[in-house]
Amino acid sequence: MSLIRFDNVSFRYEEMKEDAISGVSLSIERGECIALLGENGSGKTTLTKHINGLVKPYEGTVCVDGMPTTKRTIAELAHTVGYVFQNPDHMIFADTVEEEVAFGPQNLGMDKETVTRRVDEILAFTRLDRYKETHPMSLSGGEKQRLAVASVIVSDPSILILDEPTTGLDYKSVIDMVDLIHRLRERGHTIILVTHDMSLVVQVAERVVLMKGGTILADGEVHEIFAQEDVLAQTYLEQPYAMKLSTLLGRGPCLTPEEFYSSYAGEEP
Ligand code: ADP
Repeated sequence: MSLIRFDNVSFRYEEMKEDAISGVSLSIERGECIALLGENGSGKTTLTKHINGLVKPYEGTVCVDGMPTTKRTIAELAHTVGYVFQNPDHMIFADTVEEEVAFGPQNLGMDKETVTRRVDEILAFTRLDRYKETHPMSLSGGEKQRLAVASVIVSDPSILILDEPTTGLDYKSVIDMVDLIHRLRERGHTIILVTHDMSLVVQVAERVVLMKGGTILADGEVHEIFAQEDVLAQTYLEQPYAMKLSTLLGRGPCLTPEEFYSSYAGEEP
């Protein structure tokens, strides 16, 4: 059984003439890391809002963990689906990092001891433990983004939706985010990444779902999708440079400079 399953899903916002997503079918398996790509307005956010139940389809079904989202409340789905919003400033409201992370589990009614244990574990995991008493607003952009992730994973959702987790971050913070996403996968989370950052996609995702005009234009393994220049062009996505170069030189579709370099392994210089 797939962890998330969309069957012919269509949704339209009130007073809109056209569907925001239309006839979407998609299965996501436990443990996958998927990049959801497409131009602005292509339906990425609307699709993810179906997973945490913020919107319900007018046609078709969305099942999470085998159960249609129409049969579950947003609060119930919040145990399974965590959503890390694009701008971490909008998620911050407590006076210390510790309180910020404790808010979710406290709200779920966990006892004090469990909350403290979980918060400590998650602050260590996201490498924020030394900022426990710090005001969240005085953290750097990268640290705030990690705090936003911490505040969500502390409730242990199996599915994590990350909306543009690297926007506005400097290089070091992006490296930290890549590392965090790898460790989140090792921790067992299924990850759906909504992003325009192709360099992030090639480092963390193994599957790409490409959206256009509310429909799925392509869905497949990341090399396979990025090798199709004509498909990428339809969504104004640029092929990664390593892939352009490796294809031009007949080395096959390599996603990263490291893969490109490895394609020469064993050959005479
Ligand atoms: P993306 O996340 O890819 O930018 P969205 O899912 O936000 O795309 O938008 C898909 C379509 O739905 C767009 O045409 C957008 O204008 C429309 N839309 C999104 N949110 C709303 C809303 N709250 N009310 C009306 N229309 C919306």
